[in-house]
Amino acid sequence: MNLQERDKKHLWHPLKQHQTHPNSLGIVKAKGCILTDEHGNEYIDAISSWYTCMFGHCNDYITSRVYEQMKTLDQIMFSDFTHEPAVKLSEELIKILPKNQNRIFFNDNGSTAVEAGIKMALQYYFNKGEKRNTFIAFEDGFHGDTFGAMSVSGLSVYNGPFEDFLMDIQRIPVPNGENNETIAQKLQQIISEHNVAGFIYEPLVQGAAGMKIHKAEDLNSILAICKENDVLTIADEVMTGFGKTGNHFASDEVATKPDIICLSKALTAGLVPMSITSCTEEIYRAFLDNDIAKGFFHCHTYSANPIACSAALASIELLQTKEIQDNIQFIQNSNISFSEKIENHPKVNSTRCKGVILAIDLNTNAGRYGTLRDQLLKSFMDEGVFLRPLGNTIYIQPPYVITKEQLEKTYTTIEKVLDSL
Ligand SMILES: *Cc1c(COP(=O)(O)O)cnc(C)c1O
Repeated sequence: MNLQERDKKHLWHPLKQHQTHPNSLGIVKAKGCILTDEHGNEYIDAISSWYTCMFGHCNDYITSRVYEQMKTLDQIMFSDFTHEPAVKLSEELIKILPKNQNRIFFNDNGSTAVEAGIKMALQYYFNKGEKRNTFIAFEDGFHGDTFGAMSVSGLSVYNGPFEDFLMDIQRIPVPNGENNETIAQKLQQIISEHNVAGFIYEPLVQGAAGMKIHKAEDLNSILAICKENDVLTIADEVMTGFGKTGNHFASDEVATKPDIICLSKALTAGLVPMSITSCTEEIYRAFLDNDIAKGFFHCHTYSANPIACSAALASIELLQTKEIQDNIQFIQNSNISFSEKIENHPKVNSTRCKGVILAIDLNTNAGRYGTLRDQLLKSFMDEGVFLRPLGNTIYIQPPYVITKEQLEKTYTTIEKVLDSL
């Protein structure tokens, strides 16, 4: 029996209705931008396996660094001990994060980075003797699948069974260039009527919402109001971090810097799961006290796993090389050219680009998990390109190491599939 058949016996996949979608393709190998399935077919991974493997799959430099670390120190409890990979990673991250960031807290995935950020903001005020119990979030943001993260996510795709158990969240619209006044008024009203602890947002690009892009200036007006009113700001850079938007972080482009930043996905270049919640020294200081209970009693067993830290260190090194920075620029320019070409296609409603991200909205109604989306996914796979449309939106977010030929093939495949609709 092949993988696909054996899989059906005991496995339960995420984001899947097994009754209607029983098959999962067996992948046996991934190298650079190429995935190989169990039948020997190859696919260009044009979305970097959910925005993680930005330096290509099984990157030789990163895997060799991880292998060295594995032989030296594998896992150690971070509540009692420290180690070189964690210390070094904190030093390297502080060098590239927005200047106001000074503390690095470890978690193990994007959702738990968000949970830690939410808890930091709540306890920051609790420790100061202020009761604040509300968060503000964008209408269609996505921040993960654990309860706190689910609560702040406006994109409630099938949150039905859990809605009664979610936190109290106030929502504001995402800036669209014309609604700044409305947002400002709504924000002021929420702040005056509730005890708001923080505002959480995906800076510049809302990933799961369909790679929706908003302007740095518009986001900045919102953050400025939060700052004036002592509402802590939490930038969820789980998707945008580490070069996706052109800069190392999306927040680099926004004048007002966040108090807390959540990082994951490309942090470890797709090798192993890890995440980080960074914050300002001011937030950290609110947890210092002779009273032990004012400390941050939040921990994951694999916090600061040395192997994961070594993967992150190697990828941060690569990110800062001229070669990778040039590639990011190249992908950005190529996306803009292709976008100008494809935006007049009869099946295209609009296109948008930010950094290595290109999104194309179709002028048909696909539905988030509808049949057109399934058909598109299959057509792309038949052509040897892995693209996973989000409802009406086809997007690419290729590894920074994608070759010119692979990128061209991705574009021509999109065009060909659109022509066939
Ligand atoms: C993917 C994602 C998360 C959740 O990360 P997981 O590792 O899947 O828990 C949170 N926020 C954003 C912006 C994401 O893109």
